[in-house]
Amino acid sequence: MEAPQQDRFLQFSNVKKTYDQKTLVVKDFNLDVKQGEFVTLLGPSGSGKTTVLMMLAGFENVTSGSITVNGHPITKTAPYKRNIGMVFQNYALFPHMTVAENLAYPLTVRKMPKAQIKERVDQYLKLIELSDFGSRHPGQLSGGQRQRVALARALIFEPTLVLMDEPLGALDKKLREQMQFEITRLHKKLGFTVIYVTHDQVEALTMSSRIAVFNEGVVQQYASPDDLYERPANAFVANFIGENNLIPAQAITLTGGSMAARMACGTEVMANNGNCEADDQHCIVSIRPEKLSIITDGQPDGNRVAAHFVARHYVGDFIRYYFKLSDGSHVTIKTLNDTKAPEFTEGQSATLGWTAGDCYAFKSHTHPVRGE
Ligand code: ADP
Ligand code: MG
Repeated sequence: MEAPQQDRFLQFSNVKKTYDQKTLVVKDFNLDVKQGEFVTLLGPSGSGKTTVLMMLAGFENVTSGSITVNGHPITKTAPYKRNIGMVFQNYALFPHMTVAENLAYPLTVRKMPKAQIKERVDQYLKLIELSDFGSRHPGQLSGGQRQRVALARALIFEPTLVLMDEPLGALDKKLREQMQFEITRLHKKLGFTVIYVTHDQVEALTMSSRIAVFNEGVVQQYASPDDLYERPANAFVANFIGENNLIPAQAITLTGGSMAARMACGTEVMANNGNCEADDQHCIVSIRPEKLSIITDGQPDGNRVAAHFVARHYVGDFIRYYFKLSDGSHVTIKTLNDTKAPEFTEGQSATLGWTAGDCYAFKSHTHPVRGE
């Protein structure tokens, strides 16, 4: 049965893009977005995120494939007729116009009657809490205020689809967090659909209903933030989203969804199978630092490995421990800073433990790549 149209409000099908007729920077892009969703394209620099947005906005042609909105192909529609709102990192406001004039601009070009424009501009100034700033020029605003105006200008003509390409990249951490809050607030209130681009995984996890993790022009996984974090599809995603210990191992037995694997240090462990096939030779065992613990007496059974203490870093709310396994693999543990966080001397031996359900075995031939 056909999915209801609102489930496929926006659809990319087999979209490919080359700039030089030689290399595909977008290889085979497929994505369904529901009406009102907040979808983020997350990936390292150069992975093709901006190219996808440019094709959606109509500033770049697609080499092949189709993009549809509400079931209608848009790849031949002129950019201004697509009625898409846009916010970019360096989306300059018109410096010679006041804030109110900047906000009025998209309505003026759409030939909205003057009285209605004034009403709409006042409404949006209020929405971004800059009601008293309408007569200022962009140069008289802070970076955060300017970005709020840019956001309002992208939304004021009430587009159903809004694209944002690293819109907070130029702001410092605190302002970035405020703006993340601001954008999600407006998204909830106004109900438009967002395609957001970032290389910042915390930002993606915080804001999105679903995230498409990009690498080398291919979507590695498209899922909700908690699915990406808890159930990564491959070693790239496991390494790119959050932090993971990726320990080289040998796959031994695959039973249903469970993998018995021998780590390079010789210790055998059990893991969820990520994407290994039964006859895989090499694999990677992946465990998050916060899922590992330093074993003291009386704790329930699970995976265990002998390790040597390397260092302990105090980070305030938590403590990071660095250990080494007998083959030289490094393992990081994150634990809450409480009275139970133990002290070690360099080289001291310890037993590390974790449950099979908290770790995954992945194919190792996709080399993990760190984000920026
Ligand atoms: P991202 O936004 O993920 O950093 P881009 O879509 O900007 O990635 O770039 C993907 C690849 O396409 C990069 O290798 C980049 O150099 C190339 N590229 C981007 N824009 C152009 C262009 N206008 N002409 C030629 N190559 C481009
Ligand atoms: Mg980009």
